[in-house]
Amino acid sequence: MSNEHDDTKAGDANDQLEPAGGGDRREVDALGLDNPARRKFLTRTAVGGGAALAGLAAGYGAIEYSVQGRPSKNYPEIDEAIFKPKDQRDVVLTFANSKALNEKHPERNEQYNRLQKKEFDFVAGFRDMYAKPWDNNKPGYTQMDRALQLAGWHPLGVAGSRKSANLQPNTPLHSWDQSDVEEEQYKFDDKQAASDAIKSAARVFGAVKCGIARQDKRWDYDPLYDLETNQELSWEEDFPFKPKSVIVMLTPQDYDCVATAPAWTADGTYGAGYTQMGIQADQMAKFLRAMGYHAVSAGNDLGSSVPYAIMAGLGEGARNGTLIAPLVGPRIRICKVYTDFDFVEYDQPHTWGITDFCLSCGKCAEACPADAIPLPSDKNGGYGFEPSYEFSDEPGYTWNNHHGIKKFYSDAKKCYNFWVENGGGCGACIASCTFNEPDFWHHKFILGITPASPKPLHALMAQMHPAFGYGHTNDPAKAEKFWKTGEGMRVNSSMKNNIGTSNKS
Ligand code: SF4
Ligand code: SF4
Repeated sequence: MSNEHDDTKAGDANDQLEPAGGGDRREVDALGLDNPARRKFLTRTAVGGGAALAGLAAGYGAIEYSVQGRPSKNYPEIDEAIFKPKDQRDVVLTFANSKALNEKHPERNEQYNRLQKKEFDFVAGFRDMYAKPWDNNKPGYTQMDRALQLAGWHPLGVAGSRKSANLQPNTPLHSWDQSDVEEEQYKFDDKQAASDAIKSAARVFGAVKCGIARQDKRWDYDPLYDLETNQELSWEEDFPFKPKSVIVMLTPQDYDCVATAPAWTADGTYGAGYTQMGIQADQMAKFLRAMGYHAVSAGNDLGSSVPYAIMAGLGEGARNGTLIAPLVGPRIRICKVYTDFDFVEYDQPHTWGITDFCLSCGKCAEACPADAIPLPSDKNGGYGFEPSYEFSDEPGYTWNNHHGIKKFYSDAKKCYNFWVENGGGCGACIASCTFNEPDFWHHKFILGITPASPKPLHALMAQMHPAFGYGHTNDPAKAEKFWKTGEGMRVNSSMKNNIGTSNKS
């Protein structure tokens, strides 16, 4: 009854409070604004709420600032006595796809099989990989999973650029042909405007991040190698122009699909990622040629993608051999565009404390089914100028590593061997990574505090990651779950998969 009374009183007082456009007076009355004590309470609440909101905004601002990272002067650290340009023929994917190189280096196969106690045929590997029969009673290895795998890669094959994944240069999407370079060159007002324009275009082409580095001979394969003709290619004699800049773009991969690793399902998003980056890189190269500058796009070919992405300020090198980019982690593909356009503001390496974090973590190494990644307990924590994994002291065993750069070294031969046995890619080291998380706000917070937090806390954070349900691999339930994450795609209220996660795993 008292409420009835209050309502009656409020009716008189609130004549002045009624909004100009009319409205339901009862809603205003319900606030009790006629009551001085109530008004005081609401005022204090508003002031307190405002302060809390301001605090949250400041905190969020600090997190956003930390997502930018800090410029790093420490990358790269090079041991000049050991370092030399990387010969493309010494990259496992090129070697494994060349009968000629296998015949030239029988000692590599012999040594690997003797030390690993295997009968593994590098050059027959890719042929065998996709020949494995499916099993519809084995989640992640069914006909549907195989279909997703094949479909992911299919457009790249149709375009004639499937071999770019194995570093084959000059394929149709990454053609060296420069006959369509416009005669008139578009002129930018200043370097910042040029960089902004290139990155705006990158977003339209589907990149989640884009940075620009100077061309750097240290990261280019030299000599290049044509897998089809078994010929060396020279930057000076064969490449169509002298490159000055390398535009680096990141393509996201689906969180829920990667979570199924090492099942065939995950290969669906790896193949789709390769396809997307092939198209994206081709579009960026065409954009530059249409503005009157020479440009050639690349997938895995031409140069080592991870150091170029680090030089372009996009992330840091990680224990699992990938680039870890803030907010997307290692769940990305990297493509590049070489151009002679150099009127740009170049990016520079940044740090978020990620490489440092890897020294105390090691979840990727624990998850690796091939034992191809060094553990923190290994010599130097697996970090240094030379590989330190099993058999790395054996002369010739580390022919595939780029010696002389301070980084984590893994055994890509064992990794490739597992792909063949598995019948598809793997990526357990991506799925299990502490930085492979959906883009939730609390993950931004963790990224924000990582550089300032002590090392023991890093180890604890790595342990907490699985405790919160992230990062466990080799789980058939993940594949079953993945095939249900399409529910809600018509509405897609979160739009989360625009950075590669449906938010459902
Ligand atoms: S892809 Fe798989 S096998 Fe290769 S390094 Fe990563 S976890 Fe190991
Ligand atoms: S799992 Fe840990 S050690 Fe491995 S790459 Fe990710 S953060 Fe680094």
